[in-house]
Amino acid sequence: MSQTNLIVAKFGGTSVADFDAMNRSADVVLTNRDVRLVVLSASAGVTNLLVTLAEGLEQQPRAYLLDEIRRIQYGIIDRLQQPDVIRDEIDRMLENITMLSEAAALATSTALTDELVSHGELMSSLLFVEILRERQVAAEWFDVRKVMRTSDRFGRAEPEIAILAELTTTQLKPRLQDAIIITQGFIGSEGKGRTTTLGRGGSDYTAALLGEALHAKQIDIWTDVPGIYTTDPRVVASAHRIDEITFEEAAEMATFGAKVLHPATLLPAVRSDIPVFVGSSKDPSAGGTLVCNKTQNPPLFRALALRRKQTLLTLHSLNMLHARGFLAEVFNILARHNISVDLITTSEVSVALTLDTTGSTSTGDSLLTQALLTELSSLCRVEVEENLALVALIGNKLSQACGVGKEVFGVLEPFNLRLICYGASSYNLCFLVPGNDAEQVVRALHHNLFE
Ligand code: ASP
Ligand code: MG
Repeated sequence: MSQTNLIVAKFGGTSVADFDAMNRSADVVLTNRDVRLVVLSASAGVTNLLVTLAEGLEQQPRAYLLDEIRRIQYGIIDRLQQPDVIRDEIDRMLENITMLSEAAALATSTALTDELVSHGELMSSLLFVEILRERQVAAEWFDVRKVMRTSDRFGRAEPEIAILAELTTTQLKPRLQDAIIITQGFIGSEGKGRTTTLGRGGSDYTAALLGEALHAKQIDIWTDVPGIYTTDPRVVASAHRIDEITFEEAAEMATFGAKVLHPATLLPAVRSDIPVFVGSSKDPSAGGTLVCNKTQNPPLFRALALRRKQTLLTLHSLNMLHARGFLAEVFNILARHNISVDLITTSEVSVALTLDTTGSTSTGDSLLTQALLTELSSLCRVEVEENLALVALIGNKLSQACGVGKEVFGVLEPFNLRLICYGASSYNLCFLVPGNDAEQVVRALHHNLFE
């Protein structure tokens, strides 16, 4: 099917945090007639509150968190011209949340958690429809679970692309003609109809998946920063915005810790070659970053990403010496524990690796369980180092260029580099440093390579 004129716009938690933020986002929606589908996060803070409730709290803290959620949503309702239209529906949601968090206090489960946290997006999208309607815009609320079919891996469900495409074509697409459709990011439903979630920050991913299913011409991600920066401006004040970046570079950045995009967002975009725009709903005129297939003059060094709280596992075994299948065994064990490996280096009798923590589940459990350690220990000696930080230098043709090593590591003389990965991808060079040095390392590199 050919591309349509449609744009899918996604607004993150801060863009729908309160009445004023929602109205700014409504302005953004209305400035471009091609925006027909709007995907929303929960109002800022609500998902965190719901996740905590899902952990099963005692009556008192539970009441406190419920009040907090009610306060955030009523802050919006109370400023509507006709709050009555929506109040009952939000009250019903709040009652559901109360019931489900009581159930969580008796017994927690990942399915219950997803059901509970889905209410954040359900409420924000209901309220946003009212904001648009009060501005005389034809807007319709749509329950994304009708089309967002996923696996039943609660907390981090995977979309079932073919079913999703079919459901979107039959259930959602026809509606886009008559009204702007407002729907939820992050949530989905598995085959039996139970609510699932795509993992924290998953609303970007929803927007990209729906954009792909609808053959959109662009996916707009509206957040609270005007685009993707050379590095986190909170760490390096002189970081600057990148106007255009390729899918590959942006994917590396997202994977290696730049918080602007959920790491999976770009998969559907790349698959279907749909450009992704990232901008700030607080200041839409400031422009943003366009992530697309090709950019002019791709630079050798593009950006620096930082990912904290990395765990390094070093596995030693004399059996590795001239042996075959040792790594296969290690990877088998990791796979059985649902862990994907991130960085890896090897020597004759040892292998060092970090665990991929991207898209952590709603429950935020640690990946490194005792069961995993026990199983690995039966095979080899295991050493665990925590509190490292991963610095990723993103660029183009890095592994083909000369002098990269000197330019990068020359500046890092005062620091301990615990592990280096270079050569597998021409888009990145990654290394681990002690957590406490991370910001200094990033500043030193940014100063030398980007200023
Ligand atoms: N509300 C969800 C979260 O906070 C999803 C999202 O914002 O993208 O993780
Ligand atoms: Mg978010």
